[in-house]
Amino acid sequence: MKSVNINADLHCHSTASDGTLLPKEVVTRAADNGVEMLSLTDHDTTAGLDEAYLAAQEKHIRLIPGIELSVTWQEKLLHIIGLDIDPEHRPLKLGIRMLKDLREERALEMGRRLDKAGYSNAYENARRLAGNGNVTRTHFARHLIEAGLAKDFNDVFKRFLVRGKPGYYRVDWAPMEDAIDWITGAGGIAVIAHPMRYKLTASWLNRVIAGFRQAGGEGIEVVCGHNSTDDNERSAMFARKHGLLASQGSDFHEPGKWVELGKLAKLPVGLEPVWQKWV
Ligand code: AMP
Ligand code: MN
Ligand code: MN
Ligand code: MN
Repeated sequence: MKSVNINADLHCHSTASDGTLLPKEVVTRAADNGVEMLSLTDHDTTAGLDEAYLAAQEKHIRLIPGIELSVTWQEKLLHIIGLDIDPEHRPLKLGIRMLKDLREERALEMGRRLDKAGYSNAYENARRLAGNGNVTRTHFARHLIEAGLAKDFNDVFKRFLVRGKPGYYRVDWAPMEDAIDWITGAGGIAVIAHPMRYKLTASWLNRVIAGFRQAGGEGIEVVCGHNSTDDNERSAMFARKHGLLASQGSDFHEPGKWVELGKLAKLPVGLEPVWQKWV
């Protein structure tokens, strides 16, 4: 079936958040890799979508306007992807503005904490690396690596940027119900991103997914760049069990790291692809 087999990559990042390529470079790279349908899903921002749209027209590929929202549900951090959203929908825009302010406050506090631990100017450097975009932990990570304080991403997150470490500061992101309302109100479909990355037990994951579905979530990311084959199969089980549409995406951030745009494993059988309606 054509709709299942098209090369769809519905999760990736640009310089609008923590990717290293410009939105137009992401689109061009995706097209050159054979992607036919792409969604740019930057963290808590739609700022890259206009540029991506123009590039997608030039390259004759389909761009699905997207976002990856940071969400808190029962004290757990989740990422909810909005696909096919109208970026002009006012409640979504206001939600994005709230998250932008929250990110900035959090980055300042991360900087203060790192400063106290003897690592000065981390905020200023992360802010510089983020350009006009949202500051994420990835920018702090890049700075700390650049400064010679850690050898790679794994090392820097483990030693500086996770719970209990000097650069960690927990915030409450958008309530899940609100984030789903912003997405569906904007005409989009809410997809729970990379379910296997939350390090939740199966029973917690079932609870989270049930809550997500009850709040109006319709999709789950089954095939994801950092998944093992086993992760893909387990995510597929959750999709079938909860009657969710299946999504797939690389979660590409930069060339040479993690996975490449459009180079994804096949979707496990017996699932309804979320992209079918856009083909
Ligand atoms: P934030 O939303 O600011 O908390 O930043 C989260 C981002 O950090 C994720 O989207 C990933 O891109 C990145 N990240 C988180 N954990 C790791 C890790 N262990 N290695 C590399 N990147 C990570
Ligand atoms: Mn990221
Ligand atoms: Mn994510
Ligand atoms: Mn992502």
